Amino acid sequence: MHIVACIKQVPDTTQVRVNPETNTLIREGIPSIVNPYDTHAVEEAVSLKDRYGGKVSILTMGPPQAREALQKALSMGADQAFLLSDGKFAGADTLATSYALAEAVRYIDGKDPVDVVICGKQTIDGDTAQVGPGIACRLGFTQMTCVDQVLEVAVKERTITVRRHLEGAHEVLRSSLPAVLTVVKEINEPRYATLPNLIRALEADIPVLTAATLGLDADRCGLKGSPTKVKKIFPPPRRAGGGMVKAEPMGDAVTAFMEKVRAEGLLLAPGGATADRGSGAAGTSGKAVAAGDAGPEPKSGEVWVFVEQSDGSAARVSWELLGVGRALANDLKTNLAAVVAGHRSADVLAEAVAYGADVVYSVDSEVLAHYRTVPFARVVVSLVRKYRPDVLLMGATITGRDLASAVATDLATGLTADCTGLVIGIDTKLLEQTRPAFGGNIMATIFTEKCRPQMATVRPRVMAMPPRDPSRRGRLVKGALDMTEGEVATKLVEYGREVAADTVNLVDADIIVSGGRGMGSKDNFRLIRKLAEAFGGVAGASRAAVDAKWMGYEHQVGQTGRTVRPRLYMACGISGAVQHLVGMQTSDVIIAVNSDPNAPIFSVASLGIVGNALEVVPALTAAVAKARADAAGGKA
Ligand SMILES: Cc1cc2nc3c(=O)[nH]c(=O)nc-3n(C[C@H](O)[C@H](O)[C@H](O)COP(=O)(O)OP(=O)(O)OC[C@H]3O[C@@H](n4cnc5c(N)ncnc54)[C@H](O)[C@@H]3O)c2cc1C
Repeated sequence: MHIVACIKQVPDTTQVRVNPETNTLIREGIPSIVNPYDTHAVEEAVSLKDRYGGKVSILTMGPPQAREALQKALSMGADQAFLLSDGKFAGADTLATSYALAEAVRYIDGKDPVDVVICGKQTIDGDTAQVGPGIACRLGFTQMTCVDQVLEVAVKERTITVRRHLEGAHEVLRSSLPAVLTVVKEINEPRYATLPNLIRALEADIPVLTAATLGLDADRCGLKGSPTKVKKIFPPPRRAGGGMVKAEPMGDAVTAFMEKVRAEGLLLAPGGATADRGSGAAGTSGKAVAAGDAGPEPKSGEVWVFVEQSDGSAARVSWELLGVGRALANDLKTNLAAVVAGHRSADVLAEAVAYGADVVYSVDSEVLAHYRTVPFARVVVSLVRKYRPDVLLMGATITGRDLASAVATDLATGLTADCTGLVIGIDTKLLEQTRPAFGGNIMATIFTEKCRPQMATVRPRVMAMPPRDPSRRGRLVKGALDMTEGEVATKLVEYGREVAADTVNLVDADIIVSGGRGMGSKDNFRLIRKLAEAFGGVAGASRAAVDAKWMGYEHQVGQTGRTVRPRLYMACGISGAVQHLVGMQTSDVIIAVNSDPNAPIFSVASLGIVGNALEVVPALTAAVAKARADAAGGKA
């Protein structure tokens, strides 16, 4: 078996700083590392070789010093490495990057046929998760993203069976070879180099592949071949902080805290999803959509939202996208449309209209009953080619990122991941897409000038829910899938919702109490859970706490965890790194507990309590529990 692992050398974004005078990144002295997700890709490639025999090739695109990243991979047991390096590749966005990498894989494949390509889920400097799917789409290999286990490779039968890690669920897929996998960190523990491998890596002859070696079209490489352009970069916006109180004496802190939660009406709020915030569940009869007789005629230049479904209901982020899509469509003086691909989705069609769609493009097929990349991409691409929308938005969920990357590659258009702001430029009428970059250290506004549609993904809870009006009427446009089940190379073997005791729905929670490294130990997290329970809310965590295995990944808030927008977010023993802030700073009320009065978290907190969380949190828990008990007993 021949496995190719694609890796990238990245700046260590934990050490990137912004020059406050020039608003530019200070890159000097920032060490370069192998993208952490990619070390898991290399480990998986080498362990598949250990299991099934064969050869591991490593591929990277980068400047000459990226050779060091290749040497690291060789020292982990890979057999050969290729450096894709040429001035023509400079400034490549994800589309131009996947073009060069896919052609390099084709070159390697020409010498020794490739069975599996493995990439890390995403890079820590770009965070787009677009390059792996882009390579699959260009090579016509099957695509499976966010893999947390390779269950079996049947080399003779030419199939691979993997487990994918989804939001609160998992699925097992069996696909034909050759395949592209992207892997999450949970898949393995990267091995250390052995001395013989280290020596071999240092002595290895690493061929350099240029645009000329691969016969690449210079117009499709680097900046020239990149449909997305950066308009500007600027520091992340910060919300204004509120008051601060010391936890000495403790009574003052508890009083200030209780005054705040009472004033904001947070005491009696139940946890979990509430009706006014919208659960995303379909609830109408399907009558709001009338085929052919209501709503405007479909036309080119519309704003489209892909409506994601799982277990028969729509993802809430799809409705949030219809909310922002409405403003974009109004500015462009065009229709807002929803794209619904699935099986027996009548309720979802009606909900899309209720949340603002003027037109609903619907493709119903048994093949679409469960999400798989190729048939869903086929639906979206063929609808786009037929009706030519100007803008196409998808949720930055596991499914949305998987699909958007495949669709954008097929359509050769620009795609911006994880946008936190979407507006139409007043003069240009282009979609201005703002997103955090370089690990959240800076914000970038990006646009796609020439290619269409302009594509963007947005995380759940970043945009507000639009009002739901079940009396709205829209036009239904039916399409068909030109693909049979027999033509789909990827089969669903198993699908299950996670039922582990630790499962949590952070995204829909109204009250989240999070703990960080300052909580000191896994055992101390029981204090966080007790305060969350006292409120009827749920427990969250910083990445430091998750990395220390004090809490499961499902609890992680931030750039590489969940984006949340609860009514109350409590940060206990969390410093307030930008990567944490981007995941929670749009919460209605933020209360922080930290022993360091200069902790950055206080700059965004509506109320800051300076003190030892191990003492403050139990005192707040007792006060909340008493207030709720009093209220239940009629003494409030
Ligand atoms: C690409 C990338 C993505 C990332 N994604 C995320 C992400 O999704 N989510 C995330 O959270 N981080 C993320 N990070 C990591 C982030 O940069 C920080 O390292 C992390 O958020 C720090 O977690 P922390 O605040 O718990 O720990 P620390 O930064 O160590 O802070 C601990 C805090 O606890 C306080 N403290 C200590 N003892 C006590 C006490 N007894 N009582 C009260 N306070 C106390 C300290 O004053 C300090 O402020 C990411 C980093 C990178 C590079």
